[in-house]
Formats: sequence, structure tokens, C-alpha cells
Amino acid sequence: MEGIYTVEELQQTIPPYKKVDGVTCATFAVISTASLVYEFRFAESGKYRKALKVKINGEETSVGPAPNETLGLVDGIASRPEFIENLIAGEKIKAEITAEKMNGKRETVEKELTLKNFDYAKLLFTRVCVKNYMAFTSKKPVKTIFAADKLNPGDVTFSGCGTLNPHVHFKIEPGEKIFIAGTTGIVIGEGTRSNTNKPNIAVICDLKKVKKRYFGIFKTGGGTEYYLGLGIKRKISHQQYKNIISKTNGKITLPIADVVGRKVICNKTYSDVWKFDESFIYSVSSCKNCSPCLVEEHCPAKAFLKSEGFLPFCMYCGVCVKVCPHNAIKGNLGKIEVNGKIFKITFRQSSIKRAREIAENVKTFDRINAV
Ligand code: SF4
Ligand code: SF4
Repeated sequence: MEGIYTVEELQQTIPPYKKVDGVTCATFAVISTASLVYEFRFAESGKYRKALKVKINGEETSVGPAPNETLGLVDGIASRPEFIENLIAGEKIKAEITAEKMNGKRETVEKELTLKNFDYAKLLFTRVCVKNYMAFTSKKPVKTIFAADKLNPGDVTFSGCGTLNPHVHFKIEPGEKIFIAGTTGIVIGEGTRSNTNKPNIAVICDLKKVKKRYFGIFKTGGGTEYYLGLGIKRKISHQQYKNIISKTNGKITLPIADVVGRKVICNKTYSDVWKFDESFIYSVSSCKNCSPCLVEEHCPAKAFLKSEGFLPFCMYCGVCVKVCPHNAIKGNLGKIEVNGKIFKITFRQSSIKRAREIAENVKTFDRINAV
């Protein structure tokens, strides 16, 4: 789209300011803070006084805040749900609703639902698009959300898409419409733990419009997380134009810290970590058709099938490069020097390739936010 540039394109081609109608930025990263705010009908009105508890696919959710007395409706919030993936895939989920009958007795109602049966299903992200991510290492093996399983001594894992991250260049305001999870989301303000140095945002969007390519479950050593794609399109002032051009990956600090205690050991930049292979190659001729396939088994996003290779929501984290015993996944995540020692990058919680894809797609996003 002529006149709209991704921040990388702007830095690489440096078009005259007057020819720049707008810029786009994006991230694609693992996040923790997704909740589902829902409402659905569990009975005809007048049969129950109110719903007291709801489990979905065995996961506890919080009922309320609306009491919905005698309506046969229940609303609630599910924090970090796994069943969300079934809903996005169009699959049935099983809801068990414990409700109080009109005579005061309790009863459990079971319902099979798909996303279509929900009157309300909004995804609430309370801490996304963090500006300053980190890289981690560890002195001893530690199970953590910053590794697919354990973070081992000598390994480094990192997050962040460097200059493509919207927060590197812009403050994102409440009320802005942005691209998130494959649809349009509304920024509701700062997210939790946001501060001047490490800003992040809270965003809400419609689960019924979410696309698996941009949002889904991602399992780590610390539990269930999600992968998420997010992008913005902006007009820019002349000063912003100059700032963006100068703020390349080599100018953006990536602190490396011990995952235990988060004490910073040294500072690197995003050009130190994004100069290796951004994506990987599946060599079908090297594949030994193992049963089970260790890549299928260990992929945190279930984004690989030995019959098809990488699926469109793969985030090129690198786990498969390590776990395939026959070297059928070719890729080099690289190495990095930390205080005179060489460490191996073994896992990435962001994908610059996927972020670039979103920054490109957001060029045609129907909303362009003002300077
Ligand atoms: S583990 Fe590697 S070699 Fe074995 S089936 Fe999977 S991709 Fe092929
Ligand atoms: S890079 Fe490999 S392990 Fe990581 S998401 Fe893609 S297929 Fe899965």
C-alpha cells in the first residue's frame, strides 16, 4: 500500500517525510494475561434462582458480577482458560453449572456449548505489548514460563521483536482501535504493572472474531500461556519520523538477566539476537517418521505435523530444532556472548517473522490512528 511503511521499511528505504502517509508496527509474542468474559443461557427463565458455580471443560470460572436472578442466564470470567482454544476451533465444550433452584436446593446442570451459544464472549488482555522485554539465563535448571520446559545453564531465551514493537515508537492511548488476535480490539488503557519504563496495554476484543493464526495456547515450563499477534497503524509527525529512522534494532537494549531474581547480568541489543535464522526448514527427506513424532509431542503451540510441516500459527520458537532426534528441522537460533562466555539461544518467545507479517497486513487495516 503506497505511502504506508512498516517501521523496518521506513528505516531501510528512508523515503522523504512528505511521502509517508503512515507507519505500521507489530509484535508476535507469548503472553500470560488473557481472560474470557462470558454470558450464556443455561436454563429457561424462572427455573433456577441463580447460578452459583460454573466449570467449563473441568476448569473453574468465576460467576458474576451480574446476579441474573431467575433469568436462566449466567455470566462470568474465566482467567487464563485452556478451553478457549476449543471455542476458537468451533468445538463443543462442556459446561457444568451448579445453580440454586427456586426451593433453595442445589442442582448441577450440564450443557454442551459451542462459541455460537454464547451471547457474550469477549477476550480481555490485561498486560500485552510490553515495551522492554528481557532475555534470561540461569545458573541451574529451572522450570519457567521463559522456557519450553527447563531453562538450563549455558542457554539463553528471549522475547521481543525489537524495533517492530509499537511501544518502542508510540504511546498507545485508551480508546485506540488496534489489530489483535486477528481482529479489531479496543485499548482500554494501561495494563497491570505498566510504568513509564515498561509500558504495556490492556485490550478487549470479540472472541467470535479471533483467528487461530494470531491467538492460541502456548505451553511453557511454567504452565499455559498464549501466543498473540498485535499491530497498529499510525500517522506520524516529522519528529516521530526522525525518531523511528534512528531507532533500529541495534539501538534497542535487550537486558540479559538471571531468571531467578531477575538480576541483570549484561545488556545486549535486538540486533544481537535477530541476526540468525528467523524461521526454520522441515526436511521431509531427513524425517524418519517416528512414532510418536517428538516435534508433534513437544511443540508448545501444537503447530507442527510430520505430514504437513509447520502450521500457519507456528511462532518459530525453536523447540523443534532441539527435540527432533534426526535433524529434520533445520535452523540456527544463534549464540550470544555474555560477559566473555558464549551462550546458546535455545528458545524464542517472540517471532519477528510473524510480527513482520502482521505489520504488513495492518497496512490495509481500516483504521488509522492520529498522530
Ligand atoms: S521427530 Fe523429527 S524425524 Fe521424527 S517424525 Fe518428528 S520430525 Fe520426523
Ligand atoms: S518453531 Fe517448532 S516448536 Fe516452535 S511453534 Fe513452530 S513448530 Fe512448534
